[in-house]
Amino acid sequence: MKRALAQHTWKEIEALSKDPGVVVLPIGAIEQHGPHLPVWTDAKIAQETVRGAFEKLPQSVAAWHLPVQSYGKSNEHTGYAGTIALSASTLMAVVRDIAAALHKSGFKRLMFFNAHGGNKALLEMMCRDLRAEFGLLCFLAQGQADNSKLPALEQRFGIHANTVETALMLHLTPDLVKKPLPKAHYPEFAAQNFNLTVLPQVGWLTRDWSPEGHFGDPQPATAEDGRDWFEAMTSRLAQLITEASSFEVAHPLSRGGS
Ligand SMILES: [Zn+2]
Repeated sequence: MKRALAQHTWKEIEALSKDPGVVVLPIGAIEQHGPHLPVWTDAKIAQETVRGAFEKLPQSVAAWHLPVQSYGKSNEHTGYAGTIALSASTLMAVVRDIAAALHKSGFKRLMFFNAHGGNKALLEMMCRDLRAEFGLLCFLAQGQADNSKLPALEQRFGIHANTVETALMLHLTPDLVKKPLPKAHYPEFAAQNFNLTVLPQVGWLTRDWSPEGHFGDPQPATAEDGRDWFEAMTSRLAQLITEASSFEVAHPLSRGGS
């Protein structure tokens, strides 16, 4: 099975058997990633994780992937050169247009593989909207490595250009990782016993907390750990794609129903 949907002709796409079947859209961001990682980081991780997951898919699974949607909702990283953010309304419109086109082409299921935290809330909302509007079954797979072996402070506040992301980039594209790696930076409130799980529920911007642009400790990152996290992420995503490809709801709304 040819997995890259964009490499098919329109007649081939028309002729594809689409149920079971799922189309996967990698989505990332072009945004500052500290002084050591390229602004391409989230788009690169999204694209590579989807590629790696598809390499692990059995031929029997009906699934295709789209080119990466590189631009995301990144306005939390405003104020650093190189961040290119779509507004929420623009990204919603882009996602809706892609979904509408897939629906018109006859596809039944769409999965977002998202590698940028700032897109998450919007995509969760869009999954429901696209189900209601087009009857598409939509899934959100969030790119997340198991960071449980890292120090507690890193697990809690290492959320951007951190140990995990630096390690993934050392594995995927080491030439683009600038050395020496910068020192750890955590939001200043980290030391003040805030009784919050991630960040205060305020409309924070990265500039508010991190002049250099990273949250976390890049220095312990190694390519070997990056490879292990990448392997785990691609295996998990392959499993999710497999399950999504034939997922059904028990009582589907008939189209045109209310
Ligand atoms: Zn990132």
